[in-house]
Order: sequence, then structure tokens, then C-alpha cells
Amino acid sequence: MKTVNHWIGGKTVEGASGNYGPVTDPATGEVTTQVALASAEEVDAAVKVAQEAFLSWGQSSLAARTKVLFAYRALLDANRDAIAELIVAEHGKVHSDALGEVARGLEIVELACGITTQLKGELSTSVSNRVDVSAIRQPLGVVAGITPFNFPAMVPMWMFPLAIACGNTFILKPSEKDPSASVKLAELMTEAGLPAGVLNVVHGDKVAVDALLAHPGISAVSFVGSTPIARHIHTTASANGKRVQALGGAKNHMLVLPDADLDAAADAAVSAAYGSAGERCMAISAVVAVGSIADELVEKIRERAEKIKIGPGNDETSEMGPLITAAHRDKVASYVKGAADQGADVVLDGTGYTVDGYENGHWIGLSLLDNVKTDSDAYRDEIFGPVLCVLRAETYEEGVALINASPFGNGTAIFTRDGGAARRFQLEIQAGMVGVNVPIPVPVGYHSFGGWKDSLFGDHHIYGNDGIHFYTRGKVVTTRWPDPADAPAGVDLGFPR
Ligand code: NAD
Repeated sequence: MKTVNHWIGGKTVEGASGNYGPVTDPATGEVTTQVALASAEEVDAAVKVAQEAFLSWGQSSLAARTKVLFAYRALLDANRDAIAELIVAEHGKVHSDALGEVARGLEIVELACGITTQLKGELSTSVSNRVDVSAIRQPLGVVAGITPFNFPAMVPMWMFPLAIACGNTFILKPSEKDPSASVKLAELMTEAGLPAGVLNVVHGDKVAVDALLAHPGISAVSFVGSTPIARHIHTTASANGKRVQALGGAKNHMLVLPDADLDAAADAAVSAAYGSAGERCMAISAVVAVGSIADELVEKIRERAEKIKIGPGNDETSEMGPLITAAHRDKVASYVKGAADQGADVVLDGTGYTVDGYENGHWIGLSLLDNVKTDSDAYRDEIFGPVLCVLRAETYEEGVALINASPFGNGTAIFTRDGGAARRFQLEIQAGMVGVNVPIPVPVGYHSFGGWKDSLFGDHHIYGNDGIHFYTRGKVVTTRWPDPADAPAGVDLGFPR
């Protein structure tokens, strides 16, 4: 069996705790790998390595940093397939989807390559007699990143390229369910010339996370994962004096107005609900159909969903892969099984699905629930599987009120041909990312990604300008260089004006 170890100080470091977690191929259900789970002592050792590396990396020139990042970009580009294969083997998503996540991660590396212009400070000359004021931004120190299973390459790349470009050193604690991609990302950074200790990968579970949250050597924590854990991370790390951004779970709605192109809306709903088997924080999990179009829209979604080919991620004819674990598959199935009792019409029931030759895989088919009630479990919880709920609203206002009543506020989309309605929606909807005829409005790298309400705890969204702000702190320098001819200013106890 393969063993995934830590990557600390630019090399493999074997786990010393004696604890290992299983990594399963979701398509076969077989445990293929064990991953080392770090103890608090191992976390402490990694933090010391990162602190040591910060002494020089924090002082390094922008030219030295961008040289590494440009080389890294080229290496990532050459290794897209290799990274995607690791993702498919441990996450289960289809290869083309895995390539998509590598591409979206690479976008942030490209953003980091341009850090030279983004870290330019500000200067005001002659604010007073021979006084100039400059504002600069400096790195924080050692930053920790804690990431979820569903994007094992992209979400780490939302964090460490920018953190490192800003002069920090980084400890990544990836998901223990699919840890191999993160090690590959770190190895390539070393190959690109990153000094040892600047990017470290420490595997683990709650023990390692809590050690990072408590460690006085960690200055800031970036977290992406489920809402309960995001809340715990935010509360604990803040109480320990750290800067925190903690992105949580979601229930993303798509509002379809009566004037929308229903074929386009149905295509978008199916792609966004069932892509990556619904294991995306930006998946559409609730369609709100406004007015008389609901029956026709549900029928169009059903026709399309029935044609999706389910199979292993490394089979290029597969469009949707398995779920991450058998336990998660069973939990997702329980929502579908309980839906009718809670008032929904089960249009498609994906439970009990298997793929020939892969009977032990974590399979589930596509489910479509219509007339879902807002107080039902299938609507209230983030299911994180291929289950799409359809709700109905009489008017635009009723639809918006329904969406705004959700405790989540990650992404949302409107489908309409009415520009005025779309404009109103942008302003009235309570979510961090809005799509107009775009079902998964994940911002490009040079804008920031983040939700509202229970989908994000903290002040900063991730990557883009917010990311650079998060990984740096401001300093304002007020300078007076008197002219040699000036008379001494003399003592003045008044407050400087
Ligand atoms: P998770 O919250 O279970 O795990 C995320 C990370 O936290 C992992 O590294 C895990 O080891 C660690 N962790 C888990 N339990 C912990 C505990 N009790 N104490 C300390 N650390 C703990 O999330 P997941 O199941 O890996 O990922 C899916 C979730 O992530 C979904 O809710 C999804 O919406 C969310 N997500 C959100 C975004 C976003 O941008 N908002 C992006 C991707 C995923």
C-alpha cells in the first residue's frame, strides 16, 4: 500500500505519530493508500521549520519570488495530467473535471506571478513641511491553510501561491481523504526553486488542525470546508489572536424567471447540480422556478439528467463519478429516501445505483426532487451530492425572499432575459457571488471568492485583492528630512497637526 508522508523543509518527512488514515479509491471502494496523521509535536516541528524559513523568505526580493512562481507555473502546466490523475484516484471526479480544477488553481499562480505590481505601496509627498508619508504592506509570518476534500489541488492553490508571493511561509494541512495532490504541488514548488521550508505540507486530522490553531508561531489561518468546522476554526483561531478567513458550506440557488430561455436554464441546472457529483461548494442545489414555467423546466431537467453517464473518473466516457466515501453516499441517499415523507415529489431517485464491474464503488445516481418544502431536511441541509431540489415561487419577490431566508450565502444565479430584473437581483440578493445567466459564478483569479452569512467567517474573501490584503499587513511611514539650512524645529508638546 502506498504511504503519503509529510513534506517539510523541502523533503519528505515520515510520519512519527504512528497514526495513519485510510485513503480510498471511490470508484472501487478499495483502500489504496495510507496517510500519515501528524501529532501536535510534529506540527510544532513543522512550524519551527517555517519560522526559520521566514527569516530569509520574508526579506527576499520580489524578483526572487516571481522567478520561482514563473518556473512553478511552467511546471504545473507540464504536470496538469499527472495532478489530475492523483485527484481522480483519490477524489473520484472525472479526469476532465480534475483538469478544470488544476486550471482554476493555476489562475491564482498566474496572479501571484504579478505580485510585483500588486504589492506596490503608496506615497504622498510634502504632506507637511518636508514630510512624506508612505504606506507599505509586509508579510505576516507563518500562515496555515486547511483545505477540504472536494478540490484537493485548486483550494490549496487559492492560498499558498499568494501567501508565498507576499513573503510568508506556509503550512498546508490538506484533507486526509485525498492528500496526494497537495504533496505533488509542494514537490513541484521545490523543483521550481522555492527555498526549503517556505511551503510545507503536514497531513492530519482534528489533532493537527487544533495544534495549528493553538500554535503561537502561526500568524494567520485560511480555511475552506464545511460550515460547522469553519465556525470552529474562526472562533478558535481568533481567540488565539490569529487573523482568520474561514469559508464554509453552501446551498446555492438558481432563480429562473418566466422569460428565461428554459433550454439554457435546464442545461445550466443539470451541469451545475450534478457536475463533480454535486460535491462542489458552488453547486446549484436548489432551483427556484417562478410562475408557470415550473413543470416544463422540471421536465427539461429530468430529460437531461437521465442521460448523464456515471462511471469511474478515469474512463473518458464518464460524465459523473462516485462520491468520496461510502458513508457520505449513504447520507446523501438518506435525504432522497426521506424526501417524499417530507412533502417532495421524487422525480428521479438515484439511490441504489451501481456501475458494472465496480460494485464496491461509492455510487449514487442523479436525484431530482420537485415541490420541495423549505422546512424539509433536503432543502435545509447542504447535501453535497447529486441531488437537485426544485422549489416554486409565484413572483420574483417571493423567489428572492426565499433565497434570502437561507442561512447560507455563497453563490446564487438568476436566469432571465430581463436586464432590469437581473440588475435588481444583483443588488437585492444576499450572497457573495452572483451569476446572471451563469450558474457557477466562481470569480476569476483577479477578483476575490467568498460567500456571505454562514458561508464565510471573517472579513476577507479568498484570492484576488482580498487575498493579498489577507496575507499582508499595512504599515505607514511618516518621514521628515529637514533641509540642512533649516533652523531646528524646537520643542513643541502640542499634538502633531
Ligand atoms: P470538512 O469541514 O469536513 O473538512 C475540511 C478540513 O477541516 C479538512 O482538512 C479536515 O481535515 C478538517 N477538519 C474536519 N473536521 C475537523 C474538526 N472537527 N476539527 C478540526 N478540523 C477538522 O469539509 P470537507 O467535507 O472536506 O469538504 C466539504 C465542505 O467544504 C462542504 O461543506 C463544502 O461546501 C465546503 N467547501 C466550501 C468552499 C467555499 O469556498 N466556501 C469550497 C470548497 C468546499
